[in-house]
Amino acid sequence: MSKIHNFSAGPCILPHEVLKEASEAVKSWENHGLSLIEMSHRSKPFVEVMDETRSLTKELLNLSDRFEILYLQGGASLGFLTTAYNLIPEGGSAAYADTGTWANKAIKEARHLGEIEVVASTKDSGYTSVPKLGAVDSKHSFLHFTTNNTIYGTQYQEMPTDTGVPLVADMSSDIMSREFDTTPFQLIYAGAQKNMGPAGTVMYAIDKNCLGKTGRDIPSYLDLGVHLGKDSMFNTPPVFSVFTTMLTMRWLKNLGGVAAIEKINNEKAALLYSEIDRNPLFSGHADVNCRSKMNLTFRLNDDSLGSKFDTLWNDAGISGIKGHRSVGGYRASMYNAMPLDSVQVLVDVMKEFERTI
Ligand SMILES: *Cc1c(COP(=O)(O)O)cnc(C)c1O
Repeated sequence: MSKIHNFSAGPCILPHEVLKEASEAVKSWENHGLSLIEMSHRSKPFVEVMDETRSLTKELLNLSDRFEILYLQGGASLGFLTTAYNLIPEGGSAAYADTGTWANKAIKEARHLGEIEVVASTKDSGYTSVPKLGAVDSKHSFLHFTTNNTIYGTQYQEMPTDTGVPLVADMSSDIMSREFDTTPFQLIYAGAQKNMGPAGTVMYAIDKNCLGKTGRDIPSYLDLGVHLGKDSMFNTPPVFSVFTTMLTMRWLKNLGGVAAIEKINNEKAALLYSEIDRNPLFSGHADVNCRSKMNLTFRLNDDSLGSKFDTLWNDAGISGIKGHRSVGGYRASMYNAMPLDSVQVLVDVMKEFERTI
């Protein structure tokens, strides 16, 4: 079979060498005589995997020593609740930015734990942009925002500064895609399957100094302090997912780390956006100054040409570019492991479409 250019929004594509090494480890892991997924998570080789995964995360994100890393289950969706449980004190409140579907799910979960003030929203304009985030009431424990909006294709180009309270972010779909200053952050979480590895684990980077201050009786699995006390091994971790995430981070480190992949991501996004803007048959969905470099949303100006365009990209071996049902149109997700060549294939199809229509 010829190569498929997979533009799916998630799970993400992973580097070929990572898939190869991960699949070999499932059959028989190095010289251990066992499959990776049969081996005890308490065994020395797996404890080393967890340690390396946690330390590579810190290194690649350039996190200072106040941060600790956890790899847990439940995805970012449980992260919405876990975040609020661990950071909103009994009777307290937090500020949230409403930038679309995932932000709303985060808000909904947080409302179980405290008073949530939605301090900014782009709902009225159909989430085609992200709101600027400024100072919030200092009574709030933190300001939560979604750095990249996977469904609408919008992204904070710069992280907020001077908000007066610590930042908490869901970075599921752009973690490790670009460099940023982590100083104002208290907690960052990200489902692994958008840019770091396979589904099954969620990463938390937490400022350890802010734990244990809510006055709440937190159920064990939701208590990040409990997980920290057990070095991310409170219960059986998702071993395959953690291992494969570690391999992906090794790949990223060898490539030159986040700074190196950011350059490539910029190139890929510029290539496709310039075609969207040049080609008279297409329009971008998001406002130009809020465009995501991970999930590029666009549409046909004439919907009746849809089936013709769909045939062309299908024939070119492209998959996964149908837009989310709530937005329509098309969405090309171009996570770290997507090669520039695949983006070029899509651009060539758009040009051919223009020529042959
Ligand atoms: C996919 C996604 C989620 C949900 O992640 P799960 O790990 O499936 O729970 C949350 N936030 C954002 C920004 C996402 O893209």
